[in-house]
Amino acid sequence: MYNGEKVLDIHGHHSTPAQFRAYAYNLIALRTPMGSGLHITDEAMGEAMTRHLKILDERSVDVQFISPRPVAMMHWEQPNLVEHWTRTTNDVIHQTCRLHPTRFRGVAQLPQVSVSYSPDTSNCVEELERSVKELGFIAATLNPDPAGDRKTPGMNDPYWFPLYEKAQELKTPLIVHASISRDPRLAIIPHNYQYNFMTEQSLATLLLEHSDVFTRYPELRVIICHCGGTLSRFIPRAESSGIAGGGQVGIGSRAPAAHVEEHDWSDNLFFDTCSYDQDFLETALKQRGVDQMMFGTEAPGSGTGVLNPDTGKPADDMVPVIDRISFLTADDKRKLFRETTMRVFALYED
Ligand SMILES: [Zn+2]
Repeated sequence: MYNGEKVLDIHGHHSTPAQFRAYAYNLIALRTPMGSGLHITDEAMGEAMTRHLKILDERSVDVQFISPRPVAMMHWEQPNLVEHWTRTTNDVIHQTCRLHPTRFRGVAQLPQVSVSYSPDTSNCVEELERSVKELGFIAATLNPDPAGDRKTPGMNDPYWFPLYEKAQELKTPLIVHASISRDPRLAIIPHNYQYNFMTEQSLATLLLEHSDVFTRYPELRVIICHCGGTLSRFIPRAESSGIAGGGQVGIGSRAPAAHVEEHDWSDNLFFDTCSYDQDFLETALKQRGVDQMMFGTEAPGSGTGVLNPDTGKPADDMVPVIDRISFLTADDKRKLFRETTMRVFALYED
């Protein structure tokens, strides 16, 4: 709770018992689904969630929107394995939401595959519909580069339009969260998926800002994780110049590309607050605008075991971090912790 109101966290990944990961290992090793599928007892799931719920309580998070672990989505696998694994994962997320209906809402995994297997995202439509209509999910995770080879068309491309159309129809925001990269140059970098998150999410932000996606789908809502990736290093010029960053292409610059008419996408494109560095987060809030951002922690996750020296609390304990940002008003904080999320996630109900 924050000032007597529920805190909504749009960025969480589910916790599962070891049985879930063992099933995934066998699926990949044997190259085929086994038997009648994965069945985790409610008791085993409850044990796996004990730590997760304790951490949410300690982080002052009342309701978390939980999605798959992004590095475990296996979108780079062959389609029959991806389809089976996606349904399995969504069923397990649904089980978690059923066991803790006041604490979690489901965010679907999509059966995304390499562009070499599917010419567009129409293969994701059926599972999105099942997740919303049968499992009660309120959003879906979108991986901008499912094969991890940087050959997927950009998020402005018609490749994505079937998914955008269905997401708009179902009123389900798409949460952009990258997964792994198979770029061999990253092999020596520890936790290189974190680097890939920033690369792919930066590109997603730029391509959506500099395209006509939201003109085609005016009710589509996209939220890009980790503050939307890279921020701008340029000082914005007067809008009348029509050119950002002194005639160069500025990363994250909000000036439209020359061939795209300028539009107001403030009701379409959003970002979460999931940066554990307060300086980075403050700059993101200033550049993106408070109204375009909503609270996200990714707890428990990479920030759980790291102490923030400024707050004396774990890095992913984000309520105290946002609370101490001096330029945010009480109204700003209410929007970040709750109100913008309530508005953007049309299917969410307290
Ligand atoms: Zn995440």
